[in-house]
Amino acid sequence: MKPAESESTSTSSSTSTSTSATATATAATSGSIPAPAEDGAQRAAMVAALQRLDVLGMNRGSTGNLSLRQARGGQGGMLITPTGMGADELRPQDLVWLGDDGTLVGDWAPSSEWHFHQASYHARPDLQAIVHTHSVHATALACLQRPLPAFHYMVAIAGGDSVPCTPYHTFGTAALSQAVAAALADRDACLMAHHGLVAAGPTLARAMKVMQEVECLCEVYLKALAVAEPAVLDAGQMAEVIEKFRTYGRTRSHPPATATAPAPAAEPPQV
Ligand SMILES: [Zn+2]
Repeated sequence: MKPAESESTSTSSSTSTSTSATATATAATSGSIPAPAEDGAQRAAMVAALQRLDVLGMNRGSTGNLSLRQARGGQGGMLITPTGMGADELRPQDLVWLGDDGTLVGDWAPSSEWHFHQASYHARPDLQAIVHTHSVHATALACLQRPLPAFHYMVAIAGGDSVPCTPYHTFGTAALSQAVAAALADRDACLMAHHGLVAAGPTLARAMKVMQEVECLCEVYLKALAVAEPAVLDAGQMAEVIEKFRTYGRTRSHPPATATAPAPAAEPPQV
């Protein structure tokens, strides 16, 4: 089955022969590849995250998509949102599993943008979650083909002194996948020219946090640009912030109340 060409086209799965792990996905019955124990929790978290994006006004209709890395039976793969389905109708069972060899488990075709999710997981073994939206302010900046510079110290949340903007490529193409994977090589977010925003992280909660912060920064940057070109922090100033971010939120000023109390989690539970 060839994944749908349109972001807004809902397509049920059908069976054909897979010839390429990156170009084709084949349908499989849900019982043929056992799901891991965390499958249910991952699906619930993904549905909640997509609904959250709607509440935040960062997603409209079925344009946004997200994925979680999930291996099955020793094979790498991911759980990903289906194509053409908005948060208001998405159910946990609607999420599909796409293996690295193109095997598809689920009732629907995967998001038409699964290509750059897969390429990014291959490029960054540490990534566990990827979130993509056409949020207004990030997309507006992407339509100017401009990266988000270090005009504010919080830009460091993406792991460097800028959030890069990839060149424009048609959605669902290998060229776009390669561009996104390259941009995420040393960043946890990137803009896609004339398209939108991608954020990633070691947990879905972290990817969502980066997504929200970058969207907010893009809004502030555009407001500043309307007055004048903002000054940017220099490499030394940003390096200092990046170093502080490595430990920010991971220490507490007082010891736990009891010796047996668990250490505070730096991030919400990983799903
Ligand atoms: Zn998109």
